[in-house]
Amino acid sequence: MKAIQLVTVGKPGKFELRDLPEPKPGPAEVVVEVEACGLNHLDLWLEAGGLPIPIPLPRTPGCEIAGRVSEVGRDVSEWQSGDEVAVQSNIFCGECEYCLRGEESFCLRAEMLGITRDGGFAEKVLLPIRALMRLPKGVDFNTSAALTLAGSTAMHMLTARAQVRPGDWVLAIGGASGVGSAAIQIAKQLGARVISTGSTEAKRSLATNLGAEFVVDSTKPEWPAEVRKLNNKRGVDLVVEHVGGDVLPKCFECLARGGTIVTCGATAGRDVALNLWPIFVKEQRLIGSYGRNRVDFQATLDWAAAGKLKPVIDSIFPLDQVPAAFAKLRSRNVLGKILVKP
Ligand SMILES: [Zn+2]
Repeated sequence: MKAIQLVTVGKPGKFELRDLPEPKPGPAEVVVEVEACGLNHLDLWLEAGGLPIPIPLPRTPGCEIAGRVSEVGRDVSEWQSGDEVAVQSNIFCGECEYCLRGEESFCLRAEMLGITRDGGFAEKVLLPIRALMRLPKGVDFNTSAALTLAGSTAMHMLTARAQVRPGDWVLAIGGASGVGSAAIQIAKQLGARVISTGSTEAKRSLATNLGAEFVVDSTKPEWPAEVRKLNNKRGVDLVVEHVGGDVLPKCFECLARGGTIVTCGATAGRDVALNLWPIFVKEQRLIGSYGRNRVDFQATLDWAAAGKLKPVIDSIFPLDQVPAAFAKLRSRNVLGKILVKP
């Protein structure tokens, strides 16, 4: 089977399209034929060697997989060849104390698909059955591959980690990104008043079309003041953040008393200088969010099936064009998701 593998890290990294042996399922595993796989910022970190864990190369990236079961292991009874599936990228162990209480995002022995084991930029991928979720009727492969990682990350942030209430003001950073585009839609459905940010006119109008009531230009240094002006300087109750770097401290300037910043990433930098004064004087909170639980994953698929959460697809690349897909995401000139179709 064909797979595109990262053989040397860098910006850009070196990729090779390779013929690999057909994967064979172990007793509780399946082989999935990949129909579509989303590209994520996580892949750029892998490419650049920017993850804080050692990654043996070569590695097949790709963590946002939708496809069809093509072969099942000896002990697998609940899945059969032809079943259409979405794949959870944080492959939890299912046995640790956190997994046993349904908090798979805290799993002590989780594997990261496309990072610590081979992922979906390949014709086929080997998976444990606990990573699978049945695709609901009406959710096609592209929709799943464009939503299930970024969308379920946003779902976890807005429901499990920070509970949005009707009438809350929510600021979704980067409304044209995978997480941002889903966060706008989810927050709106939960009854929040949504503000977003965008660095170009095209990104801002996408955020508006997804349901943001106001969208500010993030290239203007005074954008946090623009956010505060929108509700008489009160500030927002929740910021959905995934950029880090210089952006995270600015999010505190946007925050109301008692407000929360929930962060799931740091694409612009992990080391951030924080002024603690507003955190204690205004009783604000900064909380982390990592991946998703199975319930978040199921909710994302259910919302997609119900038409409450729509994918935003920027472009689709074939397997042999994966390096160009990485280059496009790195350029940040992207509206929504980039997909790879083997
Ligand atoms: Zn676990």
